[in-house]
Amino acid sequence: MSLRVHLALIVLLPIALIGGMMAADIKLPVPQWGREYVLKFFLPEASGQVDLPTIYGSHNPSDPLVVIDAGHGGRDLGAVGAGVREKDVTLALALALRDQLVEQGDIRVALTREEDRLLALEERPDIARRMEAELFLSIHADSAGDNEAVSGASIYTLSNRASSAAAARFARRENDADRINGVSIGGESDEVSTILVELSQRRSQMASVEFAGLVTREGEGELAFHSQAQRSADLVVLRTPDMASALFESGFVTNQDDAARLMSPEGQAKFAEVMARAIRVFFIRQGAL
Ligand code: ZN
Repeated sequence: MSLRVHLALIVLLPIALIGGMMAADIKLPVPQWGREYVLKFFLPEASGQVDLPTIYGSHNPSDPLVVIDAGHGGRDLGAVGAGVREKDVTLALALALRDQLVEQGDIRVALTREEDRLLALEERPDIARRMEAELFLSIHADSAGDNEAVSGASIYTLSNRASSAAAARFARRENDADRINGVSIGGESDEVSTILVELSQRRSQMASVEFAGLVTREGEGELAFHSQAQRSADLVVLRTPDMASALFESGFVTNQDDAARLMSPEGQAKFAEVMARAIRVFFIRQGAL
């Protein structure tokens, strides 16, 4: 088809359609056009689904899978202080933890990012969900601005209120065809799927809190915790009604001791050791190991 005919078709087709509708007396609801009138087009997600990462460690698909998420990356530096960038700290810690878990042999482990690149917040737990992970652990580091004295690690789970809201959102989004904790909710009525999502959410929430407790227990005397070590908040990456999840704030990049510890191989190894132990005990308690 020549370009001219193509263009003519593009221009003429809508005119022909409207003409045809007028001839057939089909009426379209036409809004009052005003200055504030905005037309919105719903476009598909630009990025689409990201590729799933490599699984390290056990080759046995029935062994539990933990997905480790190094926060920030690429042009998103995260918190910056004392010559340390959060995106570098999180990646170094994630890689150290991966290596420690791989050594144990019977756990499968994957990273949402293995290099310096940016991922959208929602993509991070989504990768874990698509891989049907048992546990999602997001790693971050904090900033206290000018207050260099603030230091210590803490571990977050989703707050109860945010957790119910997340379940409701998830139920709406996934109602049509998806699986939650291995239970297919496709084809169920809205009421039934909402109940299933809530049950799944409650189970995931309890497991998440248990995991957070294990991190503080295993890390006692070994990791430098903030005085309030276990916390809850409405964090996007923790909206995971179908798996346990937690976010580890590894320390403050604005505190010199924390920054030095997080950037040193010894500090990273200590973190990996404690966290791998907590993950292991968690999987045993969940009956996954
Ligand atoms: Zn962060």
